[in-house]
Amino acid sequence: MRPARALIDLQALRDNYQFARELAGARALAVIKADAYGHGAVQCAQTLADSADGFAVACIEEALALREAGLQAPILLLEGFFEASELPLIIEHRLWCVVHSLWQVDVIEQAVLQGPLTVWLKMDSGMHRVGVSPAEYAQAYQRLLATGKVAKVVLMSHFSSADELDNPRSLEQVAQFTQATEGLQAETSLRNSPAVLGWPQVKSDWVRPGIMLYGATPFEHAQANADALKAVMILESRVISVRELPAGEPIGYGQHFVTERPMRVGVVAMGYADGYPRHAPTGTPVVVAGKRSQLLGRVSMDMLCIDLTDVPEATVGSLVELWGRQVLASEVATWANTIPYQLFCNLKRVPLVYSE
Ligand SMILES: *Cc1c(COP(=O)(O)O)cnc(C)c1O
Repeated sequence: MRPARALIDLQALRDNYQFARELAGARALAVIKADAYGHGAVQCAQTLADSADGFAVACIEEALALREAGLQAPILLLEGFFEASELPLIIEHRLWCVVHSLWQVDVIEQAVLQGPLTVWLKMDSGMHRVGVSPAEYAQAYQRLLATGKVAKVVLMSHFSSADELDNPRSLEQVAQFTQATEGLQAETSLRNSPAVLGWPQVKSDWVRPGIMLYGATPFEHAQANADALKAVMILESRVISVRELPAGEPIGYGQHFVTERPMRVGVVAMGYADGYPRHAPTGTPVVVAGKRSQLLGRVSMDMLCIDLTDVPEATVGSLVELWGRQVLASEVATWANTIPYQLFCNLKRVPLVYSE
């Protein structure tokens, strides 16, 4: 059997969720969109089902898969509905629904519904992606209530730059949100992971942690709260071949790396078809037989090469950690010029192996 696999530590997931809620002093929707950032949405939801205040996914397809698996907890659709035909299912399956645009308010006004909706009304407080503008927000809120079809409205917004701890943008967004919601008596929700970890002064009734649940930092630099998270995923494989090469020999496609001295090179069963980033360059850290070493040359589809020159105990069969506890996903992401979110979401082919 091919040795590539992703170990998923469900106790670490529980611990990170509790940490998020305690840090925030608020109720927390566990964000498990995109198959729980590659960690398996059903298993992650079942793991948190007893403790979580609710869950958040991108769309109704993701929510229905969780309902089919038996999850009873509240589930928020972060982009709401894409077309009116989803509304009966949203009611039937008791899903909560973001409203991020006025066309969605129009659709709700015109819909005939079999029960009340719970809406999270999103404001564009400065990210300028989705959200009702501050100037139109109170009116959208009143329109929703006036339909008689909405049981509850939660006021929400989303930060563009909460991962930049010296950027004033987050507090400008809070000020915009506070001003535009003045006088509206409703629960609020503002913070994603970087805001939970790094902006404790921002208060709201609900938080929406995603990446931090999986134990990866959203920050580029060290940050005490983020560094206390527990990695949930260990992406590992094994050495399947070893060779000794003299100086001056190229390794892998395109001859991108040439040995500068006699080297011992290991081939690992892991490649970009597994989601390991093809853009990770020579020097990207890996752990082999418990020691840190480095990637050599270009990543291929099913294999990559690593340096065993200073790890003489490593042989065919030695365990390799691509990311996890000894090499953080965020480190690999930085080397590959991406973010841990994308590394996790890109995982494929490797089996997920769960443990408590
Ligand atoms: C994905 C998402 C989150 C979670 O973001 P993280 O940075 O992973 O914590 C929170 N809120 C909204 C609206 C999202 O789309």
